[in-house]
Amino acid sequence: MDENSQSSIFEGEITGIRFGLATQKEICTASISDCPISHSSQLTNPFLGLPLEFGKCESCGTSEPGKCEGHFGYIDLPIPIYHPSHISELKRMLSLICLKCLKLKRNKIQIKSNGIAERLLSCCEECAQISIREVTNTDGACFLELKLPSRSRLRDGCWNFLERYGFRYGDDFTRPLLPCEVMQILKRFPLETRKKLSGKGYFPQDGYILQQLPVPPNCLSVPVVSDGDSIMSSDLSISMLKKVLKQAEVIKNSRSGAPNFDAHKDEANSLAINGRSVSSS
Ligand SMILES: [Zn+2]
Ligand SMILES: [Zn+2]
Repeated sequence: MDENSQSSIFEGEITGIRFGLATQKEICTASISDCPISHSSQLTNPFLGLPLEFGKCESCGTSEPGKCEGHFGYIDLPIPIYHPSHISELKRMLSLICLKCLKLKRNKIQIKSNGIAERLLSCCEECAQISIREVTNTDGACFLELKLPSRSRLRDGCWNFLERYGFRYGDDFTRPLLPCEVMQILKRFPLETRKKLSGKGYFPQDGYILQQLPVPPNCLSVPVVSDGDSIMSSDLSISMLKKVLKQAEVIKNSRSGAPNFDAHKDEANSLAINGRSVSSS
């Protein structure tokens, strides 16, 4: 840094540091290319930096090892999925909220004159009784499911209030909650709800739902070691990203029009199984 640029530095004071999940925007802006990776052959592309077998880094132009700091890429997912490492935290946070009015549930116990304790639900009666469960299906995909108490009387259209976040769907005691619906819910949290949640140690984050997956720079990948016949070592995250790209391709090719509720559920689950190890690593 030369003297001129030093003199123009403004003084500042760090008042706090907050760690959080990368947002969709951050994943894209951290990427060297505006263009998402769409084919497995691009996962070790020269624009992701050194080391390369031949040639120079196509992003910074150097061929000298140590001069290239590595460059990220990203994959666009065809459908949003739950971040597999943070789904439990998300569940705990959403459990505190009334999904209808997006205010904190205020469950109070009142002791009546006859000595019987009664639960007072101060906001939207029925919706406040909905609980959230984390469910793992037979394929191993994790998703969130809403559940009404089994002793309650099932009303027609009891899940219709969720339409504002995504879909009018469900007539049973349980109903899956789609990642795309949670995205809408998180966006609509009132300031008051955010404040109260932070008081309880919860911070609603964009990154709870993944729409993009970061692709690591070449310098962070384990190179393929082969004796000519068999592969002795290869990068686990690269092979998982390959599976994600393959599944993304299957999903795109199977679509005719915008996905409905069931397609959303199935597609998100199929991607979640394939993406599980990538995003948790
Ligand atoms: Zn480079
Ligand atoms: Zn409510």
